[in-house]
Amino acid sequence: MEIAGSFVDIHCHLLPGLDDGPTTWSESVLMAEMAVADGVSTIVATPHQLGNNAGNRGALIHPKVAQLQELLDERKAHRPVFR
Ligand SMILES: [Zn+2]
Repeated sequence: MEIAGSFVDIHCHLLPGLDDGPTTWSESVLMAEMAVADGVSTIVATPHQLGNNAGNRGALIHPKVAQLQELLDERKAHRPVFR
């Protein structure tokens, strides 16, 4: 049975500098590409927002999601879709 590309990761620390996820954009791109290689078609970037991460609100998160999507779009291959 073919299942490649059919997974949705609904909790991923993929945005750089927000929590215990990647610290650079290149690490974020690499992680996204690794996820795609593992069959993930969609990633929902969900940085932690409690405790020490209380400052991670939409105004900070949304531009980073857009920037990461732009970086992935530029690479064309192995492009996950963020929703
Ligand atoms: Zn988490």
